[in-house]
Amino acid sequence: MRVRVLGSAAGGGFPQWNCGCVNCDGVRTGTVAASARSQESLAVSADGETWFLLNASPDIRSQIEAAPQLHPRRPRHSPLAGVVLTSGDVDHCLGLFCLREAQPLVVASTERVWRGLAETNALFRTLQRFPGHTRWLELDPEQRVSLPTADGAPSGLTVQAVALTGAPPLHLRAGLAPSELDNIGLLVEHAEAGAVLAYFPGCAQIDGRVRNALARADAVFFDGTFWSNWELKEQGLGERSAFDMGHVPVGGAEGSMETLQSLTQQRFLIHINNTNPVLREDSAERRFVEAHGWRVASDGLELVLGSTGARSA
Ligand SMILES: [Zn+2]
Ligand SMILES: [Zn+2]
Repeated sequence: MRVRVLGSAAGGGFPQWNCGCVNCDGVRTGTVAASARSQESLAVSADGETWFLLNASPDIRSQIEAAPQLHPRRPRHSPLAGVVLTSGDVDHCLGLFCLREAQPLVVASTERVWRGLAETNALFRTLQRFPGHTRWLELDPEQRVSLPTADGAPSGLTVQAVALTGAPPLHLRAGLAPSELDNIGLLVEHAEAGAVLAYFPGCAQIDGRVRNALARADAVFFDGTFWSNWELKEQGLGERSAFDMGHVPVGGAEGSMETLQSLTQQRFLIHINNTNPVLREDSAERRFVEAHGWRVASDGLELVLGSTGARSA
């Protein structure tokens, strides 16, 4: 299985347009040791020809242009066959609306996420201009779903949803009770290569299901949004805690570094908020993460998983 990190930052990106925090200001002026990052998304493929996005970020256009494997092979063509969504959050699905140039695509998501996108949303009609334009593939946590190529053949990849504690996206929160299908983790498998990728960009609670899913994977991408639970409040940027926003912090006794110490496979933090000190390459927090065997994902990072040889390029 081929994997490319298209974007590694949380919603807003790094730097974020309306943020002058230490990190955002520092990366703009070149005074911190950190690289700018676009908003979180992965591209995955079994054969290097047909690709699927895991989340579609608002930065999708420049992310595709930066990735040669996602460029058209003919005058009107795209190697992209579909998008798998982990939630209906704007930073995870706005990119879909930027792929509106009459390209048939499959959208794999839970029913909750699909309804949030497609119902009472006039903009979604731009993705439903002709029969088969945007087709929904339901993700149900009990089932492994085969991802089809553009002509309907099996792509070689399957995806399984892992239900997570979550909440509806902010714009749908009024009047909609939280469900375990608002926000999911993904296990993407390329059975022929014997490769499994775990993709959990937003995870509020590391329970038994999450542990079991992560244990199955050859590579793990996990929620690196915040270093500490009160990161935004401490920096004077907001009142809500990391847990309250649906993210286990990286540091601290309840954090992912302590809680996931038993993992030994390749593992990366992704969906990193611009306030997180792990973005600074010379920070104590970055050293701590690396001492625990994790890496901080960066845009353009590529992996090959499974029988074609596990290597990072
Ligand atoms: Zn997000
Ligand atoms: Zn910032």
